[in-house]
Amino acid sequence: MPSDPPASVHDELAFFRDLGVTELFIDAPRGGPAAVPGSFPDLSSLQKFLAGCPRCKLSKGRTNIVFGQGSPKAELMFVGEAPGREEDEQGLAFVGRAGQLLTKIIEAMGRKREDVWIGNIIKCRPPENRNPERDEVEACRPFLEEQIRLISPKVIVTLGTFAAQVVLDTDEPIGRLRGRWRSARGVRVMPTFHPAFLLRSPERKKDVWEDMKLVRDYLAEK
Ligand code: URA
Repeated sequence: MPSDPPASVHDELAFFRDLGVTELFIDAPRGGPAAVPGSFPDLSSLQKFLAGCPRCKLSKGRTNIVFGQGSPKAELMFVGEAPGREEDEQGLAFVGRAGQLLTKIIEAMGRKREDVWIGNIIKCRPPENRNPERDEVEACRPFLEEQIRLISPKVIVTLGTFAAQVVLDTDEPIGRLRGRWRSARGVRVMPTFHPAFLLRSPERKKDVWEDMKLVRDYLAEK
């Protein structure tokens, strides 16, 4: 037989009942709000809100949150998967070898890194660079969505399978997605290969260049 709740709990519940509360969540999620409201005034307030984020298990192993960097008014946004070792150490997206190749791609398009936005779906490094898991994507997704809303780019380039599938909410393979315009949240999206893949398969660089020429030419017309 369950015993009666202590008087203090009883009084507390009666207080909420009298306020009109009809549901109590005993197992409410811990670690701060799970979703971000769509009303941050700018990227720096979003970044402050994210500081010290405990919303998923990746928070335990990270050195730094990698928020992303570049122009807050970028018309072109690159979205990768998740930070690697160097990104985790420096707190900056795409600063390792794949990042150096990304810089060359951006410069070949006639732009500078500072003029675009460079970020990731997941803001904390997964251990041993494993693929991010579904709960980690769901914990981090609202932050990417808020970044897209605040930056309001004309084009998002997704880098690799994972970023394309999350941004476009699809499970189509990258081989079918790349090089074709799509859209997400009212923004044009061009999926292409990940620069880390190009380091392993340099013969695919020409495909990425074809995709980036479509982006460059579209932005030049706008
Ligand atoms: N790979 C990614 O997807 N993102 C980074 O920031 C670095 C490597």
